[in-house]
Amino acid sequence: MNAHTKIPDFQMDLHKNPVPEAERNRLMESLGFGKVFTDHMITIRWTAEEGWHDAKVTARKPLEIDPASAVLHYAQEIFEGMKAYRADDGRILLFRPEQNARRFNLSAERMAMPTMPEELFVKAVETLVSVDKAWVPSGDASLYLRPFMFANEAFLGVRPSNEYLFCIIASPVGAYFKGGSKAVTLWVETHFTRAANGGTGAAKCGGNYAASLVAQAEAYKHQCDQVVFLDAAEHRYIEELGGMNVFFVMTDGTIVTPPLKGTILPGITRSSVIDLARDRGMKVEERPYTFEEWQKDATSGRLQECFACGTAAVLAGIGTVKHEGGEFKIGHGETGDFTTALREQLVGIQKGASNDERGWSHVVSL
Ligand SMILES: *Cc1c(COP(=O)(O)O)cnc(C)c1O
Repeated sequence: MNAHTKIPDFQMDLHKNPVPEAERNRLMESLGFGKVFTDHMITIRWTAEEGWHDAKVTARKPLEIDPASAVLHYAQEIFEGMKAYRADDGRILLFRPEQNARRFNLSAERMAMPTMPEELFVKAVETLVSVDKAWVPSGDASLYLRPFMFANEAFLGVRPSNEYLFCIIASPVGAYFKGGSKAVTLWVETHFTRAANGGTGAAKCGGNYAASLVAQAEAYKHQCDQVVFLDAAEHRYIEELGGMNVFFVMTDGTIVTPPLKGTILPGITRSSVIDLARDRGMKVEERPYTFEEWQKDATSGRLQECFACGTAAVLAGIGTVKHEGGEFKIGHGETGDFTTALREQLVGIQKGASNDERGWSHVVSL
């Protein structure tokens, strides 16, 4: 076994003054998304000579990085998003964490970064959840986990960095959208695109988000919650939202979702939804779907409901779609029954309440 595949042990340097219980409970009473953070974080370093090493649990604190650190200049950075759920029986559960580990490595390869053994990724996540277990909320809230990695070599030349820092932080979260299960309104972006063929659309990298923000600002300007991007080549095909995949549910039992061709992010929620929809006898088509078809299907009534999905929001019904030429509603403009049922099933599996036939739930040993 060489230095690059060895799984290091975590050095435990726990917080001297963690947030007191009463204050923590107060913070957990009104959770938004990503505003409150737990006491600890994980860091693991990588260098070309030593591979992964210096794995630590420490108090969550500002990072000290050199102003020449490569990430600040050339944006070599990737991340993951996953959640820990508290089951009613007290167990703490992760949802398909090995899928996040695998996708993290695919993102790393695309961004010319080192990969991490999947066991190390999952062990790091479990270690942080275990140390900060008091921060895993019960009920509908959960602990959002944000593993990320960035190029940390102080060097301004343009090439893949020789040093990286992997880090995980955690944040107890409530609903992603302020309106709760109310259907969201989307803005169809016909000018700016998110990802092109051969680009980084399938990698979960910060750069994709940087490129999406101006369109997201456009969406807010039009009183929309989120932006939906069209393909970069023809500006015709629906791709995805800034951070969520999208599904179209037809009245004839067919579900359409854009295919994974390298320009959209392969969502773990997306893949789980496809499996659960097929279990329910739906015909799922992963195929290109144009904005024109969408408008036509919504108008003719062939389209029954639409939803966006991702770890943060789970499933969010899409009620209204606005674009430069006007707007249209999906069904009655509310979250549909299929979306609600699938959301409940998925949340049930994630929280250990419904039947987990595929073994998606992963119990964290505390
Ligand atoms: C993370 C992400 C998703 C959703 O992926 P999940 O694994 O379902 O959370 C969708 N689109 C983009 C652009 C993303 O970054």
